[in-house]
Amino acid sequence: MPAPRDHVNEIKSRLDIVALISRYVALIPSGSGMKGRCPFHKDDTPSMTVSQEKGLWHCFGCGEGGDAIAFFMKIERLPFVDALRLLGEEVGVAVASAAPRIEDHLRRVLDDVAGVYAENLRSDAGRKARQALVDRGYPESCWSTYRLGYSLPGWDQIKRAFSRHGDEALVKLGLLVQGKKGTYDRFRDRIMFPILDTAGRPVGFGGRAMSGEPKYLNSPQTPLFDKGRLLYGLSWAKERMAQTRSAVLVEGYTDVLTLHQAQIHHAVGSMGTALTQAQADLLQRFVDDVVIAYDQDAAGDAATVRGMQILRSSGLGVRVASLPEGEDPDTLVRRHGAEAMQAMLDAALPFHDFYLAQLASRHDVSTVRGKERLLEETRPFYTGVDSAVLRQDIERKISELIGLSVESVRRELARRSSLRIDEVRSEREDPHWGVEEHLLALLLREEIRWQDISDHIGVDDFSEAHRAIATGLAAGLPASDLLTDLDEEGARRASFYALAPLRIDAATAVEDAKRWMGGLPRIARRLEALEQEIRAASQAQDWNRWESLLREKEELRMAWKQQRRGIHEQEQDDQTRGA
Ligand SMILES: [Zn+2]
Repeated sequence: MPAPRDHVNEIKSRLDIVALISRYVALIPSGSGMKGRCPFHKDDTPSMTVSQEKGLWHCFGCGEGGDAIAFFMKIERLPFVDALRLLGEEVGVAVASAAPRIEDHLRRVLDDVAGVYAENLRSDAGRKARQALVDRGYPESCWSTYRLGYSLPGWDQIKRAFSRHGDEALVKLGLLVQGKKGTYDRFRDRIMFPILDTAGRPVGFGGRAMSGEPKYLNSPQTPLFDKGRLLYGLSWAKERMAQTRSAVLVEGYTDVLTLHQAQIHHAVGSMGTALTQAQADLLQRFVDDVVIAYDQDAAGDAATVRGMQILRSSGLGVRVASLPEGEDPDTLVRRHGAEAMQAMLDAALPFHDFYLAQLASRHDVSTVRGKERLLEETRPFYTGVDSAVLRQDIERKISELIGLSVESVRRELARRSSLRIDEVRSEREDPHWGVEEHLLALLLREEIRWQDISDHIGVDDFSEAHRAIATGLAAGLPASDLLTDLDEEGARRASFYALAPLRIDAATAVEDAKRWMGGLPRIARRLEALEQEIRAASQAQDWNRWESLLREKEELRMAWKQQRRGIHEQEQDDQTRGA
């Protein structure tokens, strides 16, 4: 059931496209619009433009683009009707839909569960938990921001309170555990930290034990919760991250909260130290630089170092803070204050220095075997470094470390480096700028009106790929409404023409269009019609008419040749200029 166009346009007119996209991507003002890193390809430079005024976005890196609904569909991987219904709900336009999506249902359940935990914390049963939070430096004023809560010591509060959803759904969400004698609440007598997605919706929980083991318990992997694709605290930190283009990466929930309480608002938690590519991509949407602040044991772990390399090879600047033995950011701030933590962050080592120090501590460089191993381990890292200056620095440091000449170190490290295969980026090509494209761009930007050209050019004069866009423009639709009727490729083209930098003035573009677009197709059609009329005139022995038709045909042939030659010359001219 296609949603009525009026519905779609009403929803779009009420939506704030900049606010919507900002939920996922940090946007900064640029020219007359906003710019940000495209979430749909690996984007090192902000390639995505968003126009509040036009209600459009376009990525000039990968070619994706469209209206607010298209963005929401792509980033949430939703079919059109679902995206429309959800956005409709937000702006108060009801859109009828068949069945509610199972994921929305699960999200609402989790949201309600977080609400129950929050109530528990404020109830009589939550007294001890409240005290524990205050003692740890989390006053009541911050509880609702972080949506902190408490799970009761019993076995079945959640099981009973949410029984209407059925045990199966609750087990699937990781809220209940399936035991031998039935199901029971997973989280019991724990301080609850809801884990929110980028948009700030709960997708899972971390629970810290009031007593007993394990000290920390997480939601298991569920349809909503995948630890490797989330960063704890991102929804609170992303604004500051985007402003400073940097993040502090810590391990646990309390590390994040303590840093936020200490006014270090760009801290997020990796929930474990083995960083994933998905987490690197997430960070890359908001920042250029990351300072990693794990405790010493975790930072030295091989899996951690691999994770740091993932960040580095994603193009992020990585520095590593070395915390005093036995401290994590949470304990450091509580024992020594925010200034001590800030000093550690300021003194963080560039990743390659940290990495080399790590290597040196793990290999006995007084032995030949130790030196060889160190070189072997450095090689993949070294060959992955793009900067010649940095490579030189690494060569020099290794040379000092193992007592081999810089030249020999370089030779050793460069061996097999030719095996490195550069990442292949598949990028859609931007449409070629021609007369039609210029005209569409000006019309979409409302720099010219359809009436300015309609005497000379009709919808049919546009090529197949552009006819749907032209039809919308001829009907006087604004850009955002017009996209409603386009298919995906059409929307991509329209957002490109509307937002791409334009290097032509309106007068020239209109002149070109009148000269090249209207003419040829029209002549061709008239010539075809003439053949019929000439035959008819001759059959009717209407020789006057026959003669005038022949004259018209001859004139049209001349005009056709002239225009063809003109276009041909222009094409050659373009080629010469392009060469
Ligand atoms: Zn892109």
